[in-house]
Amino acid sequence: MIADPRARVRLAQLHLYVDVHRHDRYVAPVLAIITALLLSHWVPTPWALGWLVLELLIIAHYLWVYRRFKRADPPPSEERRWANRIALAHGAHMLAWSSLVVWAWQPGDFGNLMFVMLVHVGLISLTVSMSNAHLRLLWLDMTFPVLALIAPPLLEPSAFHLGLSLLGIGFCALMVLVGRQINAATTEAIELRQRNEQLIQELHSQATRDALTGLINRRYLLETGARLLQQRHRSGEPLALLIIDLDHFKRINDQHGHLGGDEVLVAVVGTCAQHVRAGDCFGRLGGEEFALVLPDTQLAQARDLAERLRSATAALAIPLPGVTIRPTISVGLAMATDDDTTLSDLLRRADAAMYEAKAGGRNRVVCVDPAGGFRADPVPA
Ligand code: GH3
Ligand code: MG
Ligand code: MG
Repeated sequence: MIADPRARVRLAQLHLYVDVHRHDRYVAPVLAIITALLLSHWVPTPWALGWLVLELLIIAHYLWVYRRFKRADPPPSEERRWANRIALAHGAHMLAWSSLVVWAWQPGDFGNLMFVMLVHVGLISLTVSMSNAHLRLLWLDMTFPVLALIAPPLLEPSAFHLGLSLLGIGFCALMVLVGRQINAATTEAIELRQRNEQLIQELHSQATRDALTGLINRRYLLETGARLLQQRHRSGEPLALLIIDLDHFKRINDQHGHLGGDEVLVAVVGTCAQHVRAGDCFGRLGGEEFALVLPDTQLAQARDLAERLRSATAALAIPLPGVTIRPTISVGLAMATDDDTTLSDLLRRADAAMYEAKAGGRNRVVCVDPAGGFRADPVPA
């Protein structure tokens, strides 16, 4: 299933958010220790220490959540769930910092007010520079420090304190603007990167896939087959090649039109593909002819598989307008030998076996006998 492009963008934004915030492990504990030292100037040392321990635990927890997110590498559909978990874990950190307002509040002490306000100015600036990748998390991360910056001066009503609060509001508005601007730029970059990746995938698929059947095309099949043959020469593991050709396909085309023929081709390929293993290489050589390269496969296993492909195809009943088509295939099988310097050598022998199958009456599997000549499997009833 193709993921919603917006969910893919949001997931990339969440990754960026987490990647940036993982640097917290170098910054946040140090800042917490410095702040606790400053805090002990106004509150009893055990209180400052208590705050520090709580904050260090919260930092350890959200860093753990980030690590789990990176390890889970979730799909786009789980972006919201992870964003919520991260919002909670990191939100606790923002709340712990902003709770300084309560802990450190010293009514009438201007130095203390400046300390609390400056801590939050720094906190908001850091948040905007680190959380802008993901707008929803940015707004959540900003909520507590913004309240903690704006509220304290209002607790001492005077024109001067009101002015300080208004300054705070102006600063927050500016930070919102900056955060949105950076987010718009990174979102555009992420969308562009994802569109490029998709285009590259499409180009690769167009260059390597056959449009009708979805199998790999001749060029890619021959390239991959040649690579697997070279691997076989290095490892010594057996390698088999099947050539599969639909029987009397021209008749099907003549009687039911090219589109009817296409339907039959797709159905036969779909049936054969169900028997192909993950490491096998199944592609379209051209027309109604296919090849299946089977690495690490003994002759007996390859014959079994070829017979399964043949019988599964023969069991097909494909409904076309007014008629049911029962296609059959002829299969030629050859095992790679040390003398096969190129894939063409092997293809030639499998092709010859396939023509033997045609000559023998079609709907059968013929193997190139390692001792020379051909060996046809028992003719099906
Ligand atoms: P045989 O049993 O000897 O293989 O006979 P055949 O009729 O299958 O073989 P032949 O080579 O005479 O005909 C193959 C036909 O396959 C001719 C060609 O028009 C048709 N063909 C090739 N590619 C396609 C395709 O993509 N779609 C359709 N519908 N037909 C195709
Ligand atoms: Mg044919
Ligand atoms: Mg053919």
